[in-house]
Amino acid sequence: MKKHNFSAGPSILDESVIKDAASAVLNYAGTGLSLLEVSHRGKEFTATIEEARNLMKELLDVPEGYEVIFLGGGASLQFYQAPLNLLKTKAAYVDSGTWASKAAKEAKLVGEVVTFSSKADNYVWYPKPWEKNEVPDDVDYLHITTNNTVYGTELRYDPDVKTRLVGDMSSDIFTREVDVAKYDLIYGGAQKNIAPAGVTFVIVRRDALGHVDRPLPTMLDYRTHIEKDSMFNTPPVFPIYVALQTMKWYKELGGVKALEKMNLEKARILYDAIDSSRLFRGTVNPEDRSIMNVCFVMKDEYKELEKDFFDLATSRGISSIKGHRSVGGFRASLYNALPKTSVEVLIEAMKDFERKH
Ligand code: PMP
Repeated sequence: MKKHNFSAGPSILDESVIKDAASAVLNYAGTGLSLLEVSHRGKEFTATIEEARNLMKELLDVPEGYEVIFLGGGASLQFYQAPLNLLKTKAAYVDSGTWASKAAKEAKLVGEVVTFSSKADNYVWYPKPWEKNEVPDDVDYLHITTNNTVYGTELRYDPDVKTRLVGDMSSDIFTREVDVAKYDLIYGGAQKNIAPAGVTFVIVRRDALGHVDRPLPTMLDYRTHIEKDSMFNTPPVFPIYVALQTMKWYKELGGVKALEKMNLEKARILYDAIDSSRLFRGTVNPEDRSIMNVCFVMKDEYKELEKDFFDLATSRGISSIKGHRSVGGFRASLYNALPKTSVEVLIEAMKDFERKH
């Protein structure tokens, strides 16, 4: 039986997508060849990547003047590639968690960086420097990590800032409607809400590029990949194919608006269960709670029961709810493909456990 997969990433994909991928691995688009062994320049894959690019633009309502590219290297390479392409002298970074601080670290290799951080409070709240007009006027861009996968905080709106805005949306792309026009660059690894690991999506405003003086390595210049339609070198064929299947499924479900509604409902029932529990408590500031990664722990007086709850959950087919080592306790990741019924199974386990203790 399929387990209830709450993994933070790589994470759950819809079963119909996995079946489609399995069938393409055996026989891709009627070619009599496996998806794993075809040329990326063949007409079938050229059509796949083009459809993926167009569907991403359609689902996210990407305005004119923006390009969608598919790269390798993960979001972690974007931590360096983004500043290389956009940072002239100085950038501002919201240090809202583990990944955000890694992004700022790479940017410091390229230029001056100012940060707005909640690290001293173990990242339980989301810094919002634009609310107090604290973003310096002279920065080339402000970088935000819209969802903090490790700590479970999220910025669920697109801030108005006077400078360029760059967003790492690795763990919340396609989970809420995004006003792409507010950003100059959005990027993320695909392995949470789109595909297996291996492909990175980049949405970039064309005219944000070409303003830095430094020579850019060919592979790290976004313009290389724009000009070659993400085919400058061999793209990650398999994850791009799976990304397309996921996006087709999203379209069938009613697009991002419908996904957001489902996500809000899943998060609501789980946070309600946590807030009304005698044993559990959420770990972050309620107004900054992520609807993707729900972090919770046993209250101090019940701490020793954590292992017992973990065992009970495991016995009910609940997989991957162990919290990240920097938070402890539990983390339930509620990505798009996780059905509400899985969340209900988790809540039922929490309630049964509470009745016993
Ligand atoms: N940013 C965020 C918000 C993430 O959650 C992750 C991965 N968990 C990364 C960046 C790093 O992504 P990758 O492993 O694709 O480099």
